[in-house]
Amino acid sequence: MNHQPFEEWLLTDKYLTPSEKRELDLHLRTCVDCTALSATGLALRSARVIRPSAGFASRFQQRLALQKAADRRRKILGALALILCSAALLVWLTAPYLRAFTAAPTEWLATLSGYFLYLTNSARAVSETLLVFARVLPNLLPPYLWMMIVSAVAGFGLLSSVSIWRFARLPQGVAS
Ligand SMILES: [Zn+2]
Repeated sequence: MNHQPFEEWLLTDKYLTPSEKRELDLHLRTCVDCTALSATGLALRSARVIRPSAGFASRFQQRLALQKAADRRRKILGALALILCSAALLVWLTAPYLRAFTAAPTEWLATLSGYFLYLTNSARAVSETLLVFARVLPNLLPPYLWMMIVSAVAGFGLLSSVSIWRFARLPQGVAS
């Protein structure tokens, strides 16, 4: 069944001429869908808009402010709980070392300084090895491999700069 133009008339609340009204009445007598549509429109039109009681806006704002304050309190409490938990965990993890340290401070300091010495020594050894590699590698690797590495690095740099450029050029709103 063809519901046009009746459906449109009902949906847009069009002002109908007497002949159009007759046509619509005839269609409504045979069409269940459009009758339902018409009934819905009537119900919507006859529904009363309830006015908010006096002081609704201020009460709403008050409640919103209270809710925001409660939210802030909850966030602060959460942060405090997190800090306390991490502090407790830290104490629990370091307690054995602290106890050992207080039992024999000088031995611990010696161990610690020995450890730092070991760290600096290994760092120096690693950097020296890297320097040697840097000096030797250019002679070891064939030229085409170097070209491949350089072009790969350059291509990656170009790609990332292009994608950044594309993100930076996103449309800044809709022109009117
Ligand atoms: Zn219809």
